[in-house]
Amino acid sequence: MKQQSGYRFLNWAQNETCTAKNFFQPETEEELTEIIKSGSKIRLVGTGHSWSSICLNNDTLINLDFYSKVLALDKEKLQLKVQSGIKLWQLNEYLDKEGLALKNLGSIARQSLAGAISTGTHGTGIDYRILGSQIEEFTLIKADGEKVKLHGELDKELFNMCVVNLGCLGVISEIILNVVPAFNLHDYTMAIPFDEAVERLDEFINNTDHFKMWWFPHTDKMVLYRYNRTHEKANDSRFRQWFMDEFVSVNVYRLLLKAGNINRRWRKTINALLIKNFDKPLDRIEKSYKVFNVPEPPIHRETEWAFDISDAKDLLREYKQLISSSSHLINFIQEIRFTKADDFALSACYGRDSIWLGAYNADNFEWNELMSDFETLAKKYKGRPHWGKEFTIDKEYLQSVYPKYEEFNVLKKQFDPLEKFTNNFISKIF
Ligand SMILES: Cc1cc2nc3c(=O)[nH]c(=O)nc-3n(C[C@H](O)[C@H](O)[C@H](O)COP(=O)(O)OP(=O)(O)OC[C@H]3O[C@@H](n4cnc5c(N)ncnc54)[C@H](O)[C@@H]3O)c2cc1C
Repeated sequence: MKQQSGYRFLNWAQNETCTAKNFFQPETEEELTEIIKSGSKIRLVGTGHSWSSICLNNDTLINLDFYSKVLALDKEKLQLKVQSGIKLWQLNEYLDKEGLALKNLGSIARQSLAGAISTGTHGTGIDYRILGSQIEEFTLIKADGEKVKLHGELDKELFNMCVVNLGCLGVISEIILNVVPAFNLHDYTMAIPFDEAVERLDEFINNTDHFKMWWFPHTDKMVLYRYNRTHEKANDSRFRQWFMDEFVSVNVYRLLLKAGNINRRWRKTINALLIKNFDKPLDRIEKSYKVFNVPEPPIHRETEWAFDISDAKDLLREYKQLISSSSHLINFIQEIRFTKADDFALSACYGRDSIWLGAYNADNFEWNELMSDFETLAKKYKGRPHWGKEFTIDKEYLQSVYPKYEEFNVLKKQFDPLEKFTNNFISKIF
């Protein structure tokens, strides 16, 4: 087992940091259990891809990079057993070689599986629930070292309480995932006027397996991403992938961001230029995980909330109006995604089919002001924040929008009576 004292943690977005007295990277469940039993204040850190201060702890941090093996594959049952530190990209690569895939994914695959599950990470598609819904069974090691096995059907009630766990119920150790035969996606991406996109929203959501939208603020255009499952062969060209996904989306985009930071007023023109990329539709077929995942974005700030789908049109129109009538100058896409309702206590999609609206900006300048305006709107529509992204903590509000909040809090006290897994973030929200 690797260990270090005085370990400095910095999250991906570089907006949260802490120095942990002890940093452990166990390789076996026995080592992991020993650390849990002997520690007094513990947090887990996956790959630090959360914007919120959810991982921070000055005492003990545990990372499971070396507890990330594939343990068993049952091709008949389509089930894969893994150690929880495995990264999503490792899963994608492993499954691809076996002719299998994850059913749905978010925009990147750098995260650890346990980290993604714990914050309620999601992809898009109104018939598809958050990533945690792909779990068949998982084990949780509680603060006293006891191992609890949770099966999605056999222990349904407790399982549903524990999937989105914010790392405060214990440590997820092993996970059995339900996987699917590998599939291709037909990606048809194009820009249309914002108002038309909102007007025809139901049509797009319901006729597309995985539908999402990007709005470039200060423009009247919305980019529609329509991914449909297909049996047709992949036809995306390697040159296009290199030129668009590596060269333009990474290098050219970063240069334009820099230009927009020299003079923020240029951002309107830059966004208008960027949207031109989508004038000609992209029409391609590629392996599912290669379509779901986008090129690694530049460092930026994010807040993202889930809302009842029935409010989608009003919400989008009001958000556009809010940005247009404000002095905010945004240099990043605003993302709109959709997920199916679930029964996970702390899932932002609990009990309601949801639209996700994310306000993103690659600039710290006046970020708090943008977030504050966004949150006022989000609260008006009874939104629920993504636990891994930024939001200002308002315990009473959170209690009011999560019907199972108190029930989760009771369970937390049962599982961790001495608050071993409670850091500032957790104590502020409960
Ligand atoms: C560029 C980028 C793109 C993103 N795209 C999406 C997206 O498409 N959809 C989406 O929903 N989110 C997205 N996110 C957010 C991200 O998926 C979540 O914040 C996720 O939790 C990060 O995973 P991680 O492994 O980095 O976990 P960390 O941020 O390191 O940890 C998150 C939480 O998980 C807990 N945890 C980690 N391991 C364990 C364990 N073994 N047992 C118990 N608790 C544990 C930690 O204690 C912490 O509370 C994105 C983030 C970035 C930076």
